[in-house]
Amino acid sequence: MKKIRVELINGDITALEVEAIVNAANPSLLGGGGVDGAIHNAAGPDLLTECESLNGCEIGQSKITKGYRLKAKHIVHTVGPIWHGGYSDETQLLASCYQTSLALAKENKIKTIAFPGISTGVYGFPKELAALIAVNETKRFLNKNNYPEKVIFVTFCDDNYETYRKLLDQ
Ligand code: ADP
Repeated sequence: MKKIRVELINGDITALEVEAIVNAANPSLLGGGGVDGAIHNAAGPDLLTECESLNGCEIGQSKITKGYRLKAKHIVHTVGPIWHGGYSDETQLLASCYQTSLALAKENKIKTIAFPGISTGVYGFPKELAALIAVNETKRFLNKNNYPEKVIFVTFCDDNYETYRKLLDQ
């Protein structure tokens, strides 16, 4: 039987018992609002100390830290693009967030990794397009690689949950 490698959950990503969660970080990696703030709050101040040593991160790239007080052992910080109407390489940069995060999961032999909707909060990326990119890039990566074994998409509202569910059912 084929193992199901993609899951969908509606809820708070900081509470998940998975090996790694992904943070929608900003280029400073020094914390912010939204899911970034929630992750720093839940992980505790040692996360900021480790992030301070990383020298930031470019848009579309990802860096890994420990999870500290989270149940997750690792946090993959990825920097999504700000939506400028679609004329500034936003789609390629968002695809790169998923590719580089998944590559870090592979490198670290992480079995399960959970993603929030990168760029879909204050960064203003259209949610449906962002979900399509997330699902396509993830499926493409999983088809070619054994790690991560499982990817969980975590939505934070019913509408976005439905958007992902429809894409995953296809
Ligand atoms: P960005 O700056 O990349 O847009 P945000 O944190 O503003 O990042 O939002 C990214 C997505 O994460 C949004 O869809 C938002 O609803 C969602 N989100 C916010 N808090 C949480 C949380 N605790 N768990 C899961 N998703 C969350």
